[in-house]
Amino acid sequence: MSVKNFFAPEEVPIQRVQFAGLIFDILRLDKIHRGASGNKFFKLKYNFLEAELKGFKNILTFGGAFSNHVVATAISAKACGFESIGVIRGEEVSNPTLNLAKKYGMELHFINREEYRNKDNPDFTSMLKTRFNEPYIIPEGGTNDKAIVGTAEIHDFIPKHYNLISACFGTGGTLAGLIQGKSEHQKVLGISVLKGDWVKEELSNLTNNNRHDWELMTQYHFGGYAKWKPELVDFITEFYEKTAVPLDPIYTGKMMYGLMMEWKKDNISSDDHILAVHSGGLQGIAGFNERFGFDLSSR
Ligand SMILES: *Cc1c(COP(=O)(O)O)cnc(C)c1O
Repeated sequence: MSVKNFFAPEEVPIQRVQFAGLIFDILRLDKIHRGASGNKFFKLKYNFLEAELKGFKNILTFGGAFSNHVVATAISAKACGFESIGVIRGEEVSNPTLNLAKKYGMELHFINREEYRNKDNPDFTSMLKTRFNEPYIIPEGGTNDKAIVGTAEIHDFIPKHYNLISACFGTGGTLAGLIQGKSEHQKVLGISVLKGDWVKEELSNLTNNNRHDWELMTQYHFGGYAKWKPELVDFITEFYEKTAVPLDPIYTGKMMYGLMMEWKKDNISSDDHILAVHSGGLQGIAGFNERFGFDLSSR
């Protein structure tokens, strides 16, 4: 399939829910067809178009052993006729995420954590280029200038009457596009899934927008990236029971938890027209359940 045809979502459902007394809507990017779901669909689009235009035959990217980005790259590459290579952090392991990537033909290459730290170093990437037959390289998490052009297009699926749009921060590419592409009356509320306040400056740099009609909350990370507490798992379970919307514990669960806390703290009004962006990540739930013995739903 051509890249253009693959990255043309037919529709993205918007679902109305009620939770803890708040009625709001969820943009179900997790429902985008063909498996490469969620925000990664938008982040990959212009990278893949560039790779096709320049005649690349294969695509290489980086990630941890549970990376949604790695899986989305594998699925998209297969659909668009590219070979794909995943450079994975840490010792060789097998889990549902990596099995899915392999199923879509991705060649996995494990490197230790120390080596992995060089992933953006030009000497290291030029070594990878030679070794893997001159691939098009997409950074870890998929955030670059082209990704942000793509994530700004999430607004094609957001009706203008929403004035508060919420999404999570991992590397910032999704929020940067949402901020770049929004209308003046819209405010973007980001929830960071990482520990630390440095993420605010990072997002500021990615958006080069000084208007500050966006906010990034940094207190809902539950200990840091991929860290969790029973309270988060309980929240995800209850949210699913009440709304039938599955959330993952790495990204969307923390985003939704943060949004609900802001509502409870009266920082959000029931007069706001709220749209929470469900950025996907449901493939990661199987691995989380397997590792920690939970039974969270992924559908
Ligand atoms: C990758 C990912 C994010 C983070 O997006 P960034 O653009 O890196 O901030 C959020 N949600 C899900 C489900 C993801 O897989």
